[in-house]
Amino acid sequence: MNQFHRFINLLLGVCLIGHGGAAAGAQDQATNSSPNIVIIYADDLGYGDLGCYGDMPSVTPRLDRMAEQGARFTDFYSAQPVCSASRAALLTGCYSNRVSIVGALSPAQHYGLNHQEVTLAQLVKQKNYATAIYGKWHLGHHPDFLPKTFGFDDYYGLPYSNDMSPLPEDNPGSEPKKQFPPLPLIAGTTAIATSPDQSQLTTSYTEHAVKFITDHRDRPFFLYVPHTMPHVPLRVSSKFAGKTGRGLYSDVMAEIDWSVGQILDTLEQHKLTERTLVIFSSDNGPWKVFGNHGGSPGPLRESKGTVYEGGVRVPCIVRWPGHIPAKTVIREPAIMMDWFPTIARVTGCQLPAQPIDGRDLWPLLTVPGTKSPHDALFFYYRDCELQAMRSGRWKLLFPHEVGSTEGIVLGRDGVSGRGIRRQIGLELYDLQEDLSEQRNLAESHPDVVAALQKQADAMREELGDRLQQKIGKAVRPHEDFPASTQ
Ligand code: MG
Repeated sequence: MNQFHRFINLLLGVCLIGHGGAAAGAQDQATNSSPNIVIIYADDLGYGDLGCYGDMPSVTPRLDRMAEQGARFTDFYSAQPVCSASRAALLTGCYSNRVSIVGALSPAQHYGLNHQEVTLAQLVKQKNYATAIYGKWHLGHHPDFLPKTFGFDDYYGLPYSNDMSPLPEDNPGSEPKKQFPPLPLIAGTTAIATSPDQSQLTTSYTEHAVKFITDHRDRPFFLYVPHTMPHVPLRVSSKFAGKTGRGLYSDVMAEIDWSVGQILDTLEQHKLTERTLVIFSSDNGPWKVFGNHGGSPGPLRESKGTVYEGGVRVPCIVRWPGHIPAKTVIREPAIMMDWFPTIARVTGCQLPAQPIDGRDLWPLLTVPGTKSPHDALFFYYRDCELQAMRSGRWKLLFPHEVGSTEGIVLGRDGVSGRGIRRQIGLELYDLQEDLSEQRNLAESHPDVVAALQKQADAMREELGDRLQQKIGKAVRPHEDFPASTQ
């Protein structure tokens, strides 16, 4: 290194300290204390479903209070608007198509997340964290692909979605899914029941979570609670049935809120509140086609399974008293895989050698005025089609076929409505002025479209795009189940 380069490096170091000094201080503090990590992940909960995001009377007082005690993101995105893909991104820090997990894996599929990938649980094992998942896994149902093979010490829950069941009552109004085996409830690697009473799932996940915190109160832990609810078929325990007076969906939400409260109260009981980073989010937007059994996207357009904002923008609240300022509202764009490097930072763990897509959110959480760490976010769906992207205030949708609920009769009481498919062209929206994506500005802003297209082309080289028959050079494969079991 010559003298000039030494000077430049010194200058960069000074700039970085000046820009992120508070964050670096917090990192050191966090690293020294090995904070506990709790992630609570709802399934198909919409942007408008929490009191702190919605304009309806709230049924989620504990989550609303959690947002008051910490930070609430207004522009937080799921990596893909569907179950397995979203979870793959959360747990690996990568766009789901980088790790070749897209869509929702069914019991008929013969692959799962590749064991070459590093999950959040494996990441924090570097620091000897105790790890557990209580809830829906959905990254491969074969015993050799269940959570305990990906760094989790303990697992209790469903291996995939609760509607992937042959029981007629789990898919009312549809042909029974006779091709699927009875829905298993798994503890560790063993199915301990089939077709479990789903009204007890939220309670039993919560009981496991509370016991895990209590048992591990004297050492660092990572607890992941991916709820089965409020994914249809909706089920609620007798404690909450009819409690809100606003229908089953609200009762289910009230029970999830209770569950969050149980976890937060247990942390408080063991004096762990200030030693624990708690994150709450949803895997994708609401399944609106189910009408009163689907959630609400609030003011956002469309819902689950689309890359309009209603499909990909989700609630996200995070709390860590003493580290993240209370009543923080973050309006910069961020995305689910960002938690991976953020958690690596606060736990002092080393990132994996292979590339990831997430960016550290710690400066955004702790230093007012920090900008999004992303120049652009890319929204893939259905066979790795690059269907949309966001850069700053601009959102560009590429021509593709959308599964739409606009103008249809929505479903009711667990029976789905009939969605329609429609082809869209190039659509440009200014999200700052037009949150509901109603005014297409593509024709009047060709310069913006061209600039975004250029960014999209670079991403297509990297991760591919089925819409343009492009295979990405940096895509890593999923992993097939052992041949004898296929
Ligand atoms: Mg989902």
